[in-house]
Formats: sequence, C-alpha cells, structure tokens
Amino acid sequence: MSVEVNGVASGPLRTDVLIVGAGPVGLFAAFEAGVVGLSCHIVDGLPRVGGQCIELYPDKPIYDIPAIPSCTARELVERLMEQIRPFDVPVHLDERVETIEQREDRRWTVTTHRGRVFDVAAILLAAGNGAFVPQRLALDEVAPLEGRHVHYSVPDIAKFAGRSVIVAGGGDSALDWALALRGVARRVTLVHRRNGFSAAVASVEQMKRAVEAGEMDFMVGAIGALNAPGGTLESVEVKQIGGTAQLEAEHVIALYGLVADLGPIANWGIEGVAGKLTVDTSNYETSRPGIFAVGDVANYPNKQKLILSGFHEASLALRKAYTYAYPDKKRVHVHSSYDTKLAEKVAATAT
Ligand SMILES: Cc1cc2nc3c(=O)[nH]c(=O)nc-3n(C[C@H](O)[C@H](O)[C@H](O)COP(=O)(O)OP(=O)(O)OC[C@H]3O[C@@H](n4cnc5c(N)ncnc54)[C@H](O)[C@@H]3O)c2cc1C
Repeated sequence: MSVEVNGVASGPLRTDVLIVGAGPVGLFAAFEAGVVGLSCHIVDGLPRVGGQCIELYPDKPIYDIPAIPSCTARELVERLMEQIRPFDVPVHLDERVETIEQREDRRWTVTTHRGRVFDVAAILLAAGNGAFVPQRLALDEVAPLEGRHVHYSVPDIAKFAGRSVIVAGGGDSALDWALALRGVARRVTLVHRRNGFSAAVASVEQMKRAVEAGEMDFMVGAIGALNAPGGTLESVEVKQIGGTAQLEAEHVIALYGLVADLGPIANWGIEGVAGKLTVDTSNYETSRPGIFAVGDVANYPNKQKLILSGFHEASLALRKAYTYAYPDKKRVHVHSSYDTKLAEKVAATAT
C-alpha cells in the first residue's frame, strides 16, 4: 500500500470508490472494498491514519472488537493497516476533501484542498466527527499572524532556531515540543493555564527538571494578547491571577488540541441532523445516491458510535457501491474462507 503525505497534486485519479477518512471504519472499508471487488483510494485530512483511535486515545485498551479480547487503539489501527495490505490501497494523507461534483455520466469528481482530483463511481464518507483541525488562539489579532508567528503544529523545528518561543498548552504535544525546542530556540517558555497537566507523567517530570536547570521557563496563565506592531510579533501578554505579564516572543506555538468540524461535507447538500448524515440502513446510502456514510458520521435511529457498528455499515455500503461502479455486472457473493484470490493476495503479503 502506498501512503503519501502532502504529495504533489497530479491528474485525476480514477478508482471505483473514494473513502473519505482513514479512521478505523475507513480502513476496514478499504478491506471490504477489496473483498467485494472494488478498487479504492483513501483520503484523510490528518498526516497519519487512525482517526479518533490515534488522535484521542492511542494507548487506551479497547475490549469490544470481535475476536480481539483486548488491544490498544494504536494496535487496532496497526492490525487494520495489516489487514488492508493485500489490496495495496493508496492512502493520501494531509489532504482534506473539499468539493464534489456529479458529472453527466453519474460519476463524481472529488477535489481535495491541495487540488488533487479523483474520478470515482461512489464516495464512502467515513469522516467521523469531521476533519480534525487545531484549536486556534481565540484572539482578534491572531489571523494575520498565523503561519508566520503563530503556529498550531511544528512541521519544521529548524524554523525556531535562535528564536524566542512560547509553547502554549498542557498536553503531550505541548510538553514534547517545549522540551524538544530547548536546544534549538534561544528561549522557550511553556505557558499553561494551571499547574496541572494532561501530558504523560514522565514528560511533566522532565519539564520540571528542565525548568529547574534553567533550560526553559514555565508560566501559569493564559495568552491574552499578541503585541505585533507592523505585523511582527514582539511580545505576548499572559493573563495571570491578579495581573498580567509581558513575555518577549517571536513565535507562539499553540497546542491546545484538535477539534472536529464536518466542514466542507456539510455543504454537499446531504440530508442530516446536527452534523451527522442521515442514511438508509439497508445500505448506508445518504440522500445523494452514490454517496454513503458509515461510522460516526452516519445517523439513523438507535445509531451506536462504536467501531464494530461502523465495520458492519461499511460492509453493506460497499455492496451497494458495487452497483454504481459495475451497473451491468452481477456480483456473486463468496465467503472469504472460499475466496481463493483473496487467499493468494493475503499469502503474498504475509510477513
Ligand atoms: C476516548 C474514546 C474511547 C473510545 N473507546 C471506544 C471503544 O472502546 N470501542 C469502540 O467501539 N469505540 C470507542 N470509541 C469510539 C470510536 O473511536 C469511534 O466510534 C470511531 O473512531 C469512529 O471511527 P470512524 O472511522 O467513523 O471516524 P474517526 O475515527 O473519527 O475518523 C474519521 C477520519 O475522517 C477524517 N476526515 C473527516 N473529514 C474529512 C475530510 N473532509 N477530508 C479528509 N478526511 C476527513 C478525519 O481526519 C478522521 O481521521 C472511543 C472514542 C473515544 C473518543
């Protein structure tokens, strides 16, 4: 399977089904697509696969996956990636699907925010709660500084070499990056609204030792204002109990976590309620024929936001999707235990 992050946009990629979302349900859907006899590509707005499992609870145990008594969310994602390996599914990461257009031949043109274009017979939305986006600094003056002085991720640590940097947040990302920047930035200050952290205990201990050793600073407070005369960040006002402090800073890295936003999918004219898409439970098709919704993004009476529910939904949706990709063919169901082609593929990629 080819996993590509942030690649160069090329000409339209023609495939049977585009799976939007590389969470657990999108990954299993890719396996089912292969079993059903459909080609597919997966697209996810995040730079890694796994959806909520990896973003929200990678090291927590999951107990309700059939035949796996216990595994961590990360292990589940690893197993799903292993399961789809026989089908060599292209996975495009860091690409958010933005627009869709149905052509006269009933196929869909789907475009990502990077300009990559897909030509597909059906679209399977396994988009969870929507695309994860970083929680932004809620300050009026922040917009023109974003990308230059205010950042929500650290794609290139060298950018901060010799600079004064504030890292804001109290989770794993904030502590990890504050610690990583010690030997790189001229000055690093971790700013968090309280003296308790949601980061791993070992990271918190390491941060405290680094502060004691004078390698970095820590300040309790919340970022209240950015002082950027002429569009260049010079200092940051930190609100504290009983007053404010001014901190010299050329860059702020705000790592407050991710929020999910259905975003562009909400504008595709699909019927839904409260950010979830209404589906027909006989095939998980939405109000737009050829577009399916499975996993947490799907809504129907008594919907359970469980991984195993999403697996079932994907399986039925892809059987209907087949009729769009191959309207003149009759698909004959073969149990996987009797599927010799599948057995060969699995054997060929077994490690
Ligand atoms: C703390 C916690 C514990 C949980 N424990 C369990 C458990 O024990 N058992 C269980 O069954 N369930 C559990 N769940 C729920 C389970 O994680 C979800 O049901 C599951 O992740 C849903 O999978 P999904 O693939 O539908 O969506 P998600 O995992 O949310 O993945 C959706 C993906 O779609 C991508 N996406 C969205 N919009 C776009 C777009 N426009 N373009 C490109 N990509 C897009 C997102 O970036 C994301 O990666 C838990 C959830 C949490 C938060």
